[in-house]
Amino acid sequence: MPGGIDKVRKTSLKFFKEKDYKIWQSSLLFANARFKPIFLGTLQPNTTLSKLMKRVCDTQKYIRAPEVCVAATLTETYRMESSDSDRWTKAMSMIKEFEEQCATPIGRLRQVADAMTAEMHAGLASEGGSKLKMLNSYVHNLPTGDEHGLFYALDLGGTNFRVLRVQLGGKDGPGGKYLNNDVAAAVILGTGTNAAYVERAHAIPKSGEMVINTEWGNFRSSHLPVTEYDQALDQDSLNVGEQIFEKIISGMYLGDIVRRVLCKMAEEAGFFGDVVPPKLKTSEMCAMNHDTSPDLAVVGSKLKDIFGISDTSFETRRVVVELCNIVATRAAHLSAAGILGILKKMGKDTVKEGEKQRTVVAVDGGLFEHYTEFRSCLKSTLNELLGDEVAHTVVIEHANDGSGIGAALLAASHSQYPKV
Ligand code: ADP
Ligand code: MG
Repeated sequence: MPGGIDKVRKTSLKFFKEKDYKIWQSSLLFANARFKPIFLGTLQPNTTLSKLMKRVCDTQKYIRAPEVCVAATLTETYRMESSDSDRWTKAMSMIKEFEEQCATPIGRLRQVADAMTAEMHAGLASEGGSKLKMLNSYVHNLPTGDEHGLFYALDLGGTNFRVLRVQLGGKDGPGGKYLNNDVAAAVILGTGTNAAYVERAHAIPKSGEMVINTEWGNFRSSHLPVTEYDQALDQDSLNVGEQIFEKIISGMYLGDIVRRVLCKMAEEAGFFGDVVPPKLKTSEMCAMNHDTSPDLAVVGSKLKDIFGISDTSFETRRVVVELCNIVATRAAHLSAAGILGILKKMGKDTVKEGEKQRTVVAVDGGLFEHYTEFRSCLKSTLNELLGDEVAHTVVIEHANDGSGIGAALLAASHSQYPKV
């Protein structure tokens, strides 16, 4: 291609101008970090992407990688009818608007965390004083690690009902590994969401140290980024106006938020032709978000299997991934802000002079466990919110089956042991 990239660019711009196309600033189209190395010329050898690029380059040796990409994008655009292009533009502007409404910059997250702390105070101070119920669990004596014996526990989750049989044998026995004295708070991110923490004695009138069940799923605040899609989801739910925090961050809803945006894009911008996506589980959203194949084959096959839409273009798939990313990122950011709120309430968001401090937040739930992007985003956001020094003292730990094992441990620590 003599003349290089510049000529490709000029010729194509001229072509589109003559055809009366609008020029659309598309940060989104190239937002995918996967392709950044191609444009920066830092593609590592032996990666899937580099092999793919090599295959193209081998047959057209004089074309540099960026030119191949631009050329490929152009060929696709050339084929678009002008009305298709209008629809695409409309779909892109809808997604861009959604992204803006979902924005959770660090300042906003701090406001959310402060609001969470304030609501916790209010909920403790009086019954009905807050959206947060802040329920006394009446658990004062936490397990010591000396518990032993065989215990059964029932864990009735939003989706899964688990029955556990836990054999405890003291600190060194099979149950001993569950004891961690540094755990100060626990969060569940599964079908729904909730958090509990150990409250200091003086904060609870007429009582000692106690585990408090925050019921934080019902948290709401003017600082939460609520979009028209969240409002519609709420209106269609069985508990209208309740559990607003949960409806933005937990597994039962994330897939449905994505579906709702896709629906509107389908209806108003013909994003999928005439098809309107009926249903999307968070686990399927997760699989699409994690698709690392160069042609986004997983996204392609999910769109086919779930929505019955075949032959989706690469661009379409990329937009779907971007949408999953927007929804998952907002959820992870807000979960981190919620955890910061709890750490603040416990006074663990600062490092005390000369004190060796370690705070463990135990997290369980299918969303946290399986949605890797969500999990790592939550962790990095919490670190950013805490700042380097404090971040070193706070650990997020995955507590597998924590809900059930916790119940078994409590049964154990509240049982009478006959002396042997
Ligand atoms: P619960 O205890 O509330 O029943 P779990 O902790 O067992 O919930 O997690 C199940 C939930 O986790 C599912 O309802 C789903 O929302 C979410 N989930 C399961 N698998 C995945 C996945 N691969 N990616 C994202 N979310 C998932
Ligand atoms: Mg559960």
